[in-house]
Amino acid sequence: MTKRLLISFAHPDDESFGLGSFIGRYVAEGVEVYLLCATNGDVGTVSPEMLNGYSSIAELRLAELACASQILGFTDIHLLGYKDSGMMGSETTQDPQCLWYQWQHNPDEVTRKVVDVIRQTRPHVIITFNEYGGYGHPDHIAVQQATVKAFELTGDAAYTTAHAPYQPQKLYYNRFPTLLLRIGILFMRLTGKDPRKAGVNEDIDLQAILDHVQPATTAIDIAAYREIGRRASACHRSQGGGRITNNPLLRLLGWWQSRKQLLTRVSPPPERAGIIEHDIFENVVLDEPTMEQRS
Ligand SMILES: [Zn+2]
Repeated sequence: MTKRLLISFAHPDDESFGLGSFIGRYVAEGVEVYLLCATNGDVGTVSPEMLNGYSSIAELRLAELACASQILGFTDIHLLGYKDSGMMGSETTQDPQCLWYQWQHNPDEVTRKVVDVIRQTRPHVIITFNEYGGYGHPDHIAVQQATVKAFELTGDAAYTTAHAPYQPQKLYYNRFPTLLLRIGILFMRLTGKDPRKAGVNEDIDLQAILDHVQPATTAIDIAAYREIGRRASACHRSQGGGRITNNPLLRLLGWWQSRKQLLTRVSPPPERAGIIEHDIFENVVLDEPTMEQRS
């Protein structure tokens, strides 16, 4: 019986930057890994020379996703087709076609789309962002909330969509590695900068990112799959993928940090504190009842 995993993220690049090596490991083990990508990433900052040969930013970013998918080996990708909302407070969040606007005005429709992807792909396990969307991006927050809601509704026969009800067994939040984050905050403080205003546009709040990281329940060894993660990230060249820092200390820390993927299990809730499992499919029941209703 094949194990199935659905990763529910917002932008073309979230999968490679966030979970590239991790996906590489599970695909290598024969798991069917599906990606839900809610937006086309068309607000990402892209330098003009990168756009050569593409008619739009969305087209470029989806081509980068296709490149990453070749390396990672997704079984299928489900695009919800929303426009990228840009960062919180920016004008782009007011575009009626963007995910954040739709999540504010039309949440039931967004949730229904996520439910339908779950019912089509029938994953045993789902991974999405944490409640802060990792780093506060409105699209990440919207897809997280829609995925949590969809996880509650998808097994309910009274909630009808084009596909038959199906209940995944586990839900996880991806977890930001905290070591580099703590060092970054400390470094900014020491050099007189405000860690709540990080990034080129000063719109990344490092302290809030750290405050929202929940305790890890699950540690997955991904050290052997670093190269796959690196190659998948390099596909997202327009977003800085493939750039390697010259700082040897940062390289060492990054290498150390990338040996394990930590996750927070949300459902079923962990029985105790600390790391409780080393495989997301632990205790997952693969023998399903006969699924004649499978559509
Ligand atoms: Zn993103």
